Amino acid sequence: MTKYDHQTIEEKWTKEWQRRDLYRAVDGDKKPKFYLLVEFPYPSGAGLHVGHARSWSAMDAYARKKRMEGFNVLYPMGWDAFGLPAENYALKMGVHPSKVVPNNIATFKEQCQNLGLSFDWSREIDTTDPKYYKWTQWIFVQLFKKGLAYQAEVLVNWCPNCKTNLADEEVLPNGTHERCGKPTERRPQKQWLLKITAYADKLLKGLETVDYSEDVKRQQINWIGKKEGMEIKFDDIKVFTTRPDTLAGATFVAVASDDEEGFTGQMVMNPATGEKIPVWKANYVLNSYGTGAVMGVPAYDERDREFALKHKIKIVEIEPDESMRKYGTPAVMYHLRDWVFSRQHYWGEPIPIVHCSKCGLVSVPESQLPVELPYLEKYEPSGTGESPLAKIEEWVKTTCSKCGEVARRETDTMPNWAGSNWYFIRYFDNKNEQELASKEKMKYWLPVDLYQGGAEHITLHLLYSRFIYRFLHEIGVVPTAEPYMKRRTHGIVLGPDGRKMSKSFGNVINPDEIVRKYGADTLRMYEMFMGPFGQMVAWNDTAVEGVYRFLKRVWVLTQGEFAIQSSPEAKRRVAKLVNKIDTDIEVLKFNTAVASAMEYINWWQDHKDEVGKDTVEKFILGLAPMAPFMTEEIWSLLGNTDSIHQQKWPKYDPELVSDENRIVVIQVNGKVRERLENGPDIEQRALESAKVKKYLSGAKYRTIIVPGKLINFVI
Ligand SMILES: [Zn+2]
Ligand SMILES: [Zn+2]
Repeated sequence: MTKYDHQTIEEKWTKEWQRRDLYRAVDGDKKPKFYLLVEFPYPSGAGLHVGHARSWSAMDAYARKKRMEGFNVLYPMGWDAFGLPAENYALKMGVHPSKVVPNNIATFKEQCQNLGLSFDWSREIDTTDPKYYKWTQWIFVQLFKKGLAYQAEVLVNWCPNCKTNLADEEVLPNGTHERCGKPTERRPQKQWLLKITAYADKLLKGLETVDYSEDVKRQQINWIGKKEGMEIKFDDIKVFTTRPDTLAGATFVAVASDDEEGFTGQMVMNPATGEKIPVWKANYVLNSYGTGAVMGVPAYDERDREFALKHKIKIVEIEPDESMRKYGTPAVMYHLRDWVFSRQHYWGEPIPIVHCSKCGLVSVPESQLPVELPYLEKYEPSGTGESPLAKIEEWVKTTCSKCGEVARRETDTMPNWAGSNWYFIRYFDNKNEQELASKEKMKYWLPVDLYQGGAEHITLHLLYSRFIYRFLHEIGVVPTAEPYMKRRTHGIVLGPDGRKMSKSFGNVINPDEIVRKYGADTLRMYEMFMGPFGQMVAWNDTAVEGVYRFLKRVWVLTQGEFAIQSSPEAKRRVAKLVNKIDTDIEVLKFNTAVASAMEYINWWQDHKDEVGKDTVEKFILGLAPMAPFMTEEIWSLLGNTDSIHQQKWPKYDPELVSDENRIVVIQVNGKVRERLENGPDIEQRALESAKVKKYLSGAKYRTIIVPGKLINFVI
């Protein structure tokens, strides 16, 4: 008997699967399609994280089972490689991002292949490839033409020390710059914005048509934050309120303020009481919400009461009165803001707009896309708050496509989220130069059947991409209104100490080391086993070894001599296991699927004389989605020449494998002749029973079955 040599097995099958091109999804295939999407990563210099490995291995098991069930599965992967992290990493390493990114991608890809992830690599995409971002820019041009991309002054984060604009994630909660530690400021600057607010209602309504987990829906609903109320005028100040019935109790008006609170000196009239009331500046009123002003009703609102008590403002107790509504006009407010869509950094998609002194803002003609990002040796921030692209005069200077006069290119680039807005469409047709993807392929594959990703992307990426997709639907590009039929999230993997993995804590687990030591099958199965998929969970080295021992036991048991025939109990147990793995994977309960396989092995160990080759094969088929390398090797050692991953998934009638009603009554013409233990082969065993044979004696019969209870042979 050979030892379990994971390294040799995994190297062999990695090559073999590539040679056989085993995981290719076929456009337009007659089999039912299943589009399984996982979030594509930013390929960081640190390589694959065990968190990526967890999500992708678990979903890989899902993809493999679906293929075995006869689906044409699309399970693709690509790289979200523009953005600040890549730019900062390149600066730190002193290597240009255009060189860093391909290296990091190569590392990630090799790691994915070593894990046995069944991605269809022929569909790989990279958001920094000009052939890709040509279409990111094309989408921007369409938005611009419909008035959904516009410029406006907004407050941006500015570090006076580094003389650069900062993204929100670069400003620490205490207001300092995360890199230099100096205080940052907010200052107004012209930015590009996308009018996502025009889609607020559609994005809300769309949620009713999709299957997202409850927390995902709730977070999106809260983020959009629709409130129905009224606008009421206090002289020239408009306030928004959801409680117009308390208008008579309004004893002050509060307006948004970033600086000191205080009385403005202005008095306005309460339209219900006719009384003059003071206007105060208050920090608790947000400029970005509603009209930026509220009516202060201390008798009914806790914050208004606190403010009134602090500043000794009158409090009037009143009864709420619906007739007060006559003083206002119905209004709807949203928490959702328009999306700031420009950055003043180098490593991003140039915004395809030209500034002409005659024609104003002109989009670059589609025939001239992509506007390629020029190579810049020094790409540090410019020091003026402008993008470093502003320094390349020969690039900035261009001609206006409308009037032919000299014009200037927009020098802002797009934010991190731009490339991920629509990437899942490009997988269908990643080399198409005429359109995002062919209509036919989009019609075949869309919408995504299951989108699995991080909980941290619910309000930004998920909402942004739904918005862009809805827009593309309205202009006739994509076939459906919603991109993702189903959305589920996974929990993050913490370090062994229960803290977030970080270099500074020294608690980072490198997946490569686990693969080297125990093999990819162990890493995959451990990460599925470590806890409920949706929950945050800490790494545990001892448990990794436990999974490794389990796989070694599987190996040993499958190398031994098998029973000539499987016992009914062995058959029933393996059928039950396969059904359990089936239903668990379907609802993403990977941990209990692995646990059941472990239980089965415990039973097998004690009942080796009951397990025949047919049962061994069923077990291996059931394990194949989770431990693809080892099962492929065992499958071939059992004498099979084709891949286990192209076999049919074993399906069983759940009644036949349930623990209940384990004794089945066998009748001939309604008379009880035999009682047998239930199992997948119950009918056959009944026919073989001497007690039954006697009465059938070769006659023609039909069979009536009450699953798990009764079989009646009627002559
Ligand atoms: Zn700074
Ligand atoms: Zn012009």
